[in-house]
Amino acid sequence: MKTNFAKRVLVIHAHPDDTEAFSGGLLVLMQQAGFEINIATTTAGGMGGILSTEKDTISKRLKEAALAAQSVGATYHCLGGRDGFLFDSDEIRLKTLSLIRSIRPGVILTHLPGDYHADHRATAQIVEMSAMLSTLPNAPVPEEPLDVTPLLYHTAPLGLTDPLGGHPPKPHFYVNIGGVMEQKMAMLAHHRTQIELMRLMHKMDDFFGEMKVQSRELGRRVGVDYAECFWQHLGGGFQKTPFLQNNLQPYLINHSMDNVS
Ligand SMILES: [Zn+2]
Repeated sequence: MKTNFAKRVLVIHAHPDDTEAFSGGLLVLMQQAGFEINIATTTAGGMGGILSTEKDTISKRLKEAALAAQSVGATYHCLGGRDGFLFDSDEIRLKTLSLIRSIRPGVILTHLPGDYHADHRATAQIVEMSAMLSTLPNAPVPEEPLDVTPLLYHTAPLGLTDPLGGHPPKPHFYVNIGGVMEQKMAMLAHHRTQIELMRLMHKMDDFFGEMKVQSRELGRRVGVDYAECFWQHLGGGFQKTPFLQNNLQPYLINHSMDNVS
């Protein structure tokens, strides 16, 4: 049976700026390859503010996320979970399922299941299960079931660390983002609230610079200037077609070239 996956991606991360940081380059390349881009977050990032209440921070960050999405021609959706208090629940699964069924993506991207951040791990679980439910007629949402389960991919944790400071399994593939690094940085630059926060929380003086360092470090592993890396969800319940990889062939770097030191 031949399956046709739509050239439509839905990225669902926990916080505004995760998408740009971990997959901004990929999304620019996907847009250039003719994909429709949709971005969602499970929370509005209300804890990510300095000298700003949760409510004000949410309002600022929703605007930042919408502007960043606009720069790759994407729509932005917030699923309404609370930053720092995100739990897998019926409510958020149903909202995520409804969003998946309204957008009807061929590809979904989310965090890695073993990410270092608890909100990221909760998001990965919510997204995985909602994707699995997207084709099932008994799932209790009004939108029509999908014909085929979207392909699921995972993005890299910051610093490639798990909760105990260890490392996730080797990425399944890298994408050379050297040609679109400027666009990725332009997307990130919309998240102005994060500059002060990172300075206080992580003693990170140059937030955008640090994001560049991660892309440069991933590039170094595979011999290019800048890269992002990804895993395809190959466990039971999901198809294993390398659809994203096939569509990004000119930028794809095989994991076998990975020389981690
Ligand atoms: Zn995050």
